[in-house]
Amino acid sequence: MDFDLTDPERAFQEAVRRFGDTVLRPQERRIDTEGRIPDEVLREMAHLGLLSMMVPPEYGGMGASAVLTEIAAEEIGRGDLSMATAVFFLLEAGWGRTLALHGTEAARHEILPAVCRGESFLGIATTEPTGGSDLAGMRTESHREGSEFVLHGEKAFLSGVEEARSRGGGHLTLTRSRGTAGGFNFLYVPTGHPSLATQRFANMGRMGISTGAITYDHARVPERYLLGEEGRGFGIALEGFTVARTFVSAACVGAAERALEIGTAYLRERRAFGQPLGKFEGIQFELADLYAQIEAVKWQCRRAAWLIDQRFGPDARPDAAARSELERVVAAVKLTAPPVAFETIKRVMMWFGAAGYTREVGLERGFRGIMSYMVGAEGGLNIMRIILGRELLGKEFVPYK
Ligand SMILES: Cc1cc2nc3c(=O)[nH]c(=O)nc-3n(C[C@H](O)[C@H](O)[C@H](O)COP(=O)(O)OP(=O)(O)OC[C@H]3O[C@@H](n4cnc5c(N)ncnc54)[C@H](O)[C@@H]3O)c2cc1C
Repeated sequence: MDFDLTDPERAFQEAVRRFGDTVLRPQERRIDTEGRIPDEVLREMAHLGLLSMMVPPEYGGMGASAVLTEIAAEEIGRGDLSMATAVFFLLEAGWGRTLALHGTEAARHEILPAVCRGESFLGIATTEPTGGSDLAGMRTESHREGSEFVLHGEKAFLSGVEEARSRGGGHLTLTRSRGTAGGFNFLYVPTGHPSLATQRFANMGRMGISTGAITYDHARVPERYLLGEEGRGFGIALEGFTVARTFVSAACVGAAERALEIGTAYLRERRAFGQPLGKFEGIQFELADLYAQIEAVKWQCRRAAWLIDQRFGPDARPDAAARSELERVVAAVKLTAPPVAFETIKRVMMWFGAAGYTREVGLERGFRGIMSYMVGAEGGLNIMRIILGRELLGKEFVPYK
């Protein structure tokens, strides 16, 4: 067992941290107030190979491991506390990997190179206005007509709808199959498609990336946009979520680490009752607890990424035990990382007193951004508990059909 990064991994981590320090941090406020990630940020990310980095080189990516991607997610979460850049990064990383593994050869060549160059956006569409947690209860349908699939229905709360519309790109869209085989079809749907109507929601945080709805009015996409086999898309989407949740958690770890660094510096310098704040045990103990929690979740997260590399690589044939282990580990980390980051940011804001409540200090951007992962993005906390209950007790204990 070796917890050390290799030399190339360390060099890569340093390069992404430099990007975070010199490119992201100076733009953090602008990303939040202008409601978009500036083109120069995305260009630099593409230059560093950070967009869809797990995609193999033949489709324009760097073929990175999950561990390296997890390291990058941490650094990007640290660089832009609002989570907007981290969301952009991890959607491309997680769902780019899914398309590279399960898409047709034609779709990979057509879609992925532009995503890796930052010229096109790739997102995920599963949630519907009637709910996102009960994935199998979705209503949006698709069926095959000749060499096309026809989609009808509505998806909501999707990250990147505006980006995919303005920059080009689309969403991997899970739909109930009306075909004889039943099941679910997982299809790439370009957002610029003429029979799609889109809407942007007014979010409270991570303002640099849009969230919106898409309505499909008998939208037709070519059969080359189907991932995996007809009617068999559900499992592919679930595996994609497991991978994406690992990177979400890593971004939360990075944000928590940065918030704690900001807080630690403040505890050294800010004085009350004639002493630095850091001298008060009541505050020191909070610092110690937060550090211990971040450290635990950081390594839990790294292990999840390592498991993805070990058991879910391109040539792997993971058995049920391997799938169950990864589901457990990732559900546990996604259950833990957002609340740890949220609590860290909240505590540090309180150490700052009134200043913590201002936009100047900027911690509120993290507070609003991390909240997206508390309420539901990439699966709500209770859904992680349901996964853990199922994996620890057995499927017969799942209280739903
Ligand atoms: C900023 C943001 C970005 C998002 N981006 C995307 C995206 O790109 N693509 C996409 O498809 N979706 C996206 N989502 C939606 C996200 O996946 C859903 O919010 C999530 O799946 C929960 O669905 P819901 O919001 O409809 O809540 P519901 O399913 O209605 O659940 C409401 C609450 O009840 C809890 N709950 C549900 N069932 C149970 C149960 N059985 N037991 C106990 N508690 C339960 C949930 O955890 C949640 O807290 C995004 C959400 C946000 C906030």
